[in-house]
Amino acid sequence: MRAILLAVATLVVAAIVAVGTLFATGVLPIGGSAAVSPSAAVPAPSSPSASPTPSASVPAIPSPEFTPEPSAAPAFDKAAYSIDDPTSPWVIVNKLRPLADGAAYEPPDLVDLPSDMPNPNGYQMRADAAASLEEMFHTALAETGVQLVAQSGYRSYSVQVRAYDYYVNSLGVAGADLTSARPGYSEHQTGMAMDILDTVSGCSTDGRCFADTTAGQWLAANAWRFGWVLRYPDGATPITGYEFEPWHYRWVGVPLATEMHTTGVGTLEEFFGLPAAPDYAG
Ligand SMILES: [Zn+2]
Repeated sequence: MRAILLAVATLVVAAIVAVGTLFATGVLPIGGSAAVSPSAAVPAPSSPSASPTPSASVPAIPSPEFTPEPSAAPAFDKAAYSIDDPTSPWVIVNKLRPLADGAAYEPPDLVDLPSDMPNPNGYQMRADAAASLEEMFHTALAETGVQLVAQSGYRSYSVQVRAYDYYVNSLGVAGADLTSARPGYSEHQTGMAMDILDTVSGCSTDGRCFADTTAGQWLAANAWRFGWVLRYPDGATPITGYEFEPWHYRWVGVPLATEMHTTGVGTLEEFFGLPAAPDYAG
């Protein structure tokens, strides 16, 4: 180690001497725009043969074990879960991304919701989504005094056939496609989406009414804490293909919901860099 220090010190002194010589011979200007400002320039030793002193000007050499402190949290891993597998918490279903084997797909772990959660139509959800929904309902009641309602959860392919037909009959195909998914293209079939209303506002799953309620505003601001995202935000119709649905929430888990909240990305399509899905392909 001492031999290395001596060698480094010798090189440093040699460099100083060389630069000093260049100044002295006029190769480098004393003033002007040289990188080393004149006032900071180290004067050349009075004698080129002065013996170097290792302790004087040699910077500390980092040991091989030295590791710098991480400067930031590790980047969010967007590949941690599949966006194609219908059982994945991150599966993305839209008008260009039907559920794989949609006519036959059923989620593996559907459960009933706890009896203290208003659920007028008896809908089920997947277990993890149901557990976080229960926590969110309890917290909403504690923080706002408003009781949320589980208006519509898991819908099978055959139920979605009837739902979509209902809207086609009343709105026509174009109108139906803005508010109801075609069978095999519905997030509700994943068992990880819930249409949420409340017991006091009288709003329905139609129009913008719920967005201006205490419950609707609390959900928009807080659902991410429980792993839920507002799936069809206001102004995102060209991306999601659906009108603003202030009641439709999708469970994706806390890490992804938190990351989308933190980064301010409003849709799953944008977060994962997927094409906008305003219309069906055919
Ligand atoms: Zn919905």
